[in-house]
Amino acid sequence: MTSLLELAGVERRRGEGEGAFTLEVGELSLRAGDCLAVTGPSGSGKSTLLDLLGLVLCPDRAEVFRFLDRDVAALWRSGGDGGLAALRSRHLGYVLQTGGLLPFLDLRENVELSRRLLGLGPDSLTGELLARLGLTHLKAKKPRALSVGERQRAAIARAFAHRPALVLADEPTAALDPSLALEVCRLMRELAAEFGIALVIVSHDWALVRRLRLPELRVVPQAGTSGCRSRLEGVSDA
Ligand code: ADP
Ligand code: MG
Repeated sequence: MTSLLELAGVERRRGEGEGAFTLEVGELSLRAGDCLAVTGPSGSGKSTLLDLLGLVLCPDRAEVFRFLDRDVAALWRSGGDGGLAALRSRHLGYVLQTGGLLPFLDLRENVELSRRLLGLGPDSLTGELLARLGLTHLKAKKPRALSVGERQRAAIARAFAHRPALVLADEPTAALDPSLALEVCRLMRELAAEFGIALVIVSHDWALVRRLRLPELRVVPQAGTSGCRSRLEGVSDA
């Protein structure tokens, strides 16, 4: 099966001078429906990695960077954002640390927003997502009337509602208590598997990732490098 996402020899620097930070991705490959956890200490470069995968951060170097058989490195080089914006809005979904719901839309409107912006018609998936995430009875409520956990579940429904190829979740459960965090991550993994959507969950919470039993990659700060450098590495089972 061909890859959904393929990176090799990718680098991105943040900041300038002595304090500059560089993230290095030797190899990363995801197939449709794959589910992957990325762990690493705070400041190691996890969000930088997700921004690269989310096509919002341009790599400084990329031997290979393909998403859905498109040459992302070439799209970045070509300057105009046209192709990248279309890939992002149609084929990617994001779950952020703090919901990011629009306060003036109710829950259902928030969940349907990505579909509406794409000009897609109604889809039974919306109702199904609300039901699976325990949100059906809350669909007419505004975000301010929801608990933190409910808002985070709504953010998950929103990320999946337009059936993207890949959902990226950056510390999606940081605001939740541990048992709720585990439940929410399990739900995301189930939904992804069911709908054939690939999922990358970024978390600094190793215990949570271990309990999820997901394949894991780790962003590892490199000792002895000038400036600050991290590398994405595979995790071998101890
Ligand atoms: P994590 O998500 O693992 O906490 P980040 O990817 O957010 O790590 O950050 C990695 C490193 O890059 C940190 O040292 C951070 O200070 C630096 N960094 C992140 N964003 C920027 C930026 N916009 N400008 C300069 N440095 C940045
Ligand atoms: Mg981060």
